Amino acid sequence: MNDLRDLYEEVILDHNRNPRNFQKNPPDANRHAHGHNPLCGDDFTVHLTVKDDKIVDVGFEGVGCAISTASASLMTEAIMGKTVEEAKQIFGNVHHMLTEQGEDADTSTDVGKLAVLSGVKEYPMRVKCATLAWHVMDAALENRDDVVTTE
Ligand code: ZN
Repeated sequence: MNDLRDLYEEVILDHNRNPRNFQKNPPDANRHAHGHNPLCGDDFTVHLTVKDDKIVDVGFEGVGCAISTASASLMTEAIMGKTVEEAKQIFGNVHHMLTEQGEDADTSTDVGKLAVLSGVKEYPMRVKCATLAWHVMDAALENRDDVVTTE
């Protein structure tokens, strides 16, 4: 597990220091959602440009801890160029990976480089930090204007 842990820390540090698609609201964004993790104070808005059922641009704004910021950054990279259905599938896989516990956890789901996020499971208090941006992205796909909360 040490390799995964090292990789986890490396990726979280990198994406927190240099978050991708951060402070960006694409001028033609047509789907938006806002979410909050009261346990930690993470607070993000996700903007999506969806054209012909495809996510052609994505950005996020807000403030959060290193894990929530890095997870949001990874999320924007993961869904860029995907169809709405593919993005929902990725959300489902990541959510499953982060919330499934113990020996029964299904590790067969293909999440690619996002597997590094599973390192957060060593810090159960931070799992909601890691899932926040994904919930907000899912709400944005449905253009829900309620505030998403991890509670
Ligand atoms: Zn947090």
